[in-house]
Amino acid sequence: MTDAQPARSTTLTIRPLSRVIPSQATADGAGVRLRRSIGAHPGARLDPFLMLDEFSSDDAADYIAGFPAHPHRGFETVTYMLDGHMRHEDHLGNRGHLTPGSVQWMTAGRGIIHSEMPEQESGRMRGFQLWVNLPARLKMQPPWYRDIAPAELPVAALPGGGRVKVIAGELEVDGQRHTGPIAGERFADSTDPLYWDIHLPPGAVFSQRLPGGHQGFLYLYEGEASVGHPAALRALPPRAAGVLGEGDAVRIVAGSREARVLLIAGKPLREPVAQYGPFVMNTQDELRQALADLQAGRLALPAD
Ligand code: FE
Repeated sequence: MTDAQPARSTTLTIRPLSRVIPSQATADGAGVRLRRSIGAHPGARLDPFLMLDEFSSDDAADYIAGFPAHPHRGFETVTYMLDGHMRHEDHLGNRGHLTPGSVQWMTAGRGIIHSEMPEQESGRMRGFQLWVNLPARLKMQPPWYRDIAPAELPVAALPGGGRVKVIAGELEVDGQRHTGPIAGERFADSTDPLYWDIHLPPGAVFSQRLPGGHQGFLYLYEGEASVGHPAALRALPPRAAGVLGEGDAVRIVAGSREARVLLIAGKPLREPVAQYGPFVMNTQDELRQALADLQAGRLALPAD
């Protein structure tokens, strides 16, 4: 759906901007400087999303220490690189090379130990890491991992100018479907995530139907944009998670500069969240078990 099809859009409720979660400067790994919006504190989660980090620096001192070997259990990590090179290695022997425009989708499941290290000593490093929760019944599944090359990400051209890169989920523009590499039955009964990188030239409008039950947010990482119904348009604060209220559709309007916005949405799990750093389970007992498993060398098992 686009604004060029007003007959359909009149029946849709456009989601307003309901809440802003500003990003906070923080450091993680061995001292990588980043901005954390979703997940900056426990009240800043948006079910099913646990965390969104943006890293962006031209100064190697901000990223060179990287993320040496560390564990995860109970959720998924999604790394989307805009600039720079990272090397990934895990205990299963997977080795990946994240290049500009590539994505790594990793389901930690019952446990993974991996490292994420910069493969450059100077220049710009820029990108995002999203943490997506798993439902209780999938938290202990075997780990799964996929490196997605830039050419595997469909790009939808918008009729009013601009384009959308589809990382997860499906986007329909002028009757044509663009399905991301992460979509389909794998998530049919789970979070069913949408992850789009939207680029809009000045003044362009992007309207798209979103599943009614999904919770979602926008993250403006470049330029200017507003969100909502024309009669209730609100500016999107830069480098913040702009949480969308209830409705059937999202509508984004670029300002006087080209806007680059992530749209991230998913089906909420509505389960209790117990988190201890890189372990995200449902109960404190399960967190204790994760720690005990790590200490006993049982967290990260060889492949089945
Ligand atoms: Fe990690």
